[in-house]
Amino acid sequence: MAGKAAMVLFLFGATLLCAFGTVLAGSAAATLVLDPDLGRLNLAERVEILEDQPGRLTIDQVSSPELAGRFKPHREREIDIGISDSAYWMRFRLVRPATGADGGDPGRHRTWFLEIGKPGLGSIDLYVPRKDGTWLIKRTGAEHSGQPREVLHRSFVLELPATFDEQAFFYLRVQSSISLNFSLLIWTPAEYAAWTIPDFYGFGVIYGILLGMIFYNLFLYVSLRDRVYLYYVLYVSSMLAYQQFLYGQFSAFVRLEPRETMRLFWMTSGLAWLSGILFVQGFLNLKKLAPRANVILILFMTLAVSYALLGILGYDALANLLSRIISIFGPMVCIALASFGIYKGFKPARYFLLAWFILMVGTMLYGISGTFLPRTFVARYGVAIGSAAEALILSLALGSRILALREEKEMLEAQEARLRKMSVTDGMTGLFNKMFFIENLPEKIQRSGLAGHPLSLLMMDVDHFKRFNDTYGHAEGDKVLTALSEVLRSCARKSDSACRFGGEEFTLILPGADRATALNVAERIRTMFSSQCFDVSETGTASAKVSVGLAQLGPDEDAESLIKRADGALYRAKRAGRNRVEAED
Ligand code: GH3
Ligand code: MG
Ligand code: MG
Repeated sequence: MAGKAAMVLFLFGATLLCAFGTVLAGSAAATLVLDPDLGRLNLAERVEILEDQPGRLTIDQVSSPELAGRFKPHREREIDIGISDSAYWMRFRLVRPATGADGGDPGRHRTWFLEIGKPGLGSIDLYVPRKDGTWLIKRTGAEHSGQPREVLHRSFVLELPATFDEQAFFYLRVQSSISLNFSLLIWTPAEYAAWTIPDFYGFGVIYGILLGMIFYNLFLYVSLRDRVYLYYVLYVSSMLAYQQFLYGQFSAFVRLEPRETMRLFWMTSGLAWLSGILFVQGFLNLKKLAPRANVILILFMTLAVSYALLGILGYDALANLLSRIISIFGPMVCIALASFGIYKGFKPARYFLLAWFILMVGTMLYGISGTFLPRTFVARYGVAIGSAAEALILSLALGSRILALREEKEMLEAQEARLRKMSVTDGMTGLFNKMFFIENLPEKIQRSGLAGHPLSLLMMDVDHFKRFNDTYGHAEGDKVLTALSEVLRSCARKSDSACRFGGEEFTLILPGADRATALNVAERIRTMFSSQCFDVSETGTASAKVSVGLAQLGPDEDAESLIKRADGALYRAKRAGRNRVEAED
């Protein structure tokens, strides 16, 4: 019996408590006390929301008792509606705390700011209840971008009037084509000013980095004339401009009609993609490296230009769709192409990959902030931080690209020099070959003519070399030819050219040498060579001799005639018994 009574009592108490709680919760959900000591109050968790699907309800309808029951408490820290065609009405009460208890001035903190924390929201209407039952209406939002702002900041801020009806509801109507995810805060002006400073600073640093990179790389473009730098500058500039729209700075400081603002937005957005893709294409040299992947890039560029044009012409929905496609697949393609570049051994592509990855993460965090992720700092500033980091790393990538290109160029040049040397060198002796001699002699002749210097030519032929080969073998013969080439090298000055004319015949061009000097050189070669001994067998040694023909270049003489005369002199040396020098007069 006593248990039953206790039970009834308990149930009764619980019901009473619940009812009381509901009343308390109901009033608490819709009422916010403007406590000046807090400075910043979260309104979002106190509002009640009504969805106005066709978006045609008026303030009289919304504030009527019939619709009062359809408002639902929100209780979240931020408004997270997402993309919607409907208009949303939010109602709340604001009450000032009882004054006088702390001896405070009742006029203190009469001014409060309501911040709707998202730039670019289409239309925002605030209905403030007056004591006489009428409404004070304040409008802001991107659709009113032609009008001056009450409080100048990148997000929309309205100043609350000093007096209003504390018993009645405020109504805030928001409607926009962009995602309805925003904070709803009430600030004292002092606290708001203190908050805006780091915000301004933060963007100052980020935009400063972007501007620095733009000027630095513009300078590099001017001096290097590599078009990739121009694409980079265009890309970073349009990303900078794009963020002015995204983060609301543009609309806060430049008052344009909404349509004009939208046109500029589509233009910069399209340009960002176009220049970004041109940059990727040039950086990775895709036209050469991967012509097929290049086709994809051309498709993307067409897409970027198309959506920008559609947007400029006013087809916002279509432009939106295309831009979404490109912004989902674009970074993926860039990352795939950068990976391909790394795979192909292009080292700078590593920085490139990192840069695009960072921007993609930043953009994705921004995109999903407020839906899958809490609207954290990184998410909120994701695009800005991501793009500044990207710009820095891409600039590094460009630096590393110069290095890689220079290394590649040096390698090619070295290879070319090697090939060139090989093509003019005789393999066995290391002297110049006949091809070089034929090409070089006219050049030397011309230069001597111009300078008015003499020039002489020696032609040499090893004596009875066939016999030497036959007696001691071809290998021993080779040693003799190498020995003669060493003698030529040691007797030649820097400007002289010693060549193997073919077989056991050699030439020496002596620029600056007249007949007497050349005779001296020739005699030295002959004696040095003939004094050498070759170990042809275990027991014996052998020596070889050389005959030399000499001719000094005559006035207006050409290479062919000079060779002929030197050869004639050589023939005479052979005829005269070999191992001697004969000179043409
Ligand atoms: P001459 O005194 O009249 O010049 O008599 P020669 O025997 O030197 O002249 P000839 O032109 O009859 O013979 C040249 C020889 O040189 C024939 C050839 O086998 C030899 N010879 C040509 N090139 C090479 C080579 O690279 N190595 C060796 N070991 N012998 C070579
Ligand atoms: Mg010969
Ligand atoms: Mg010979």
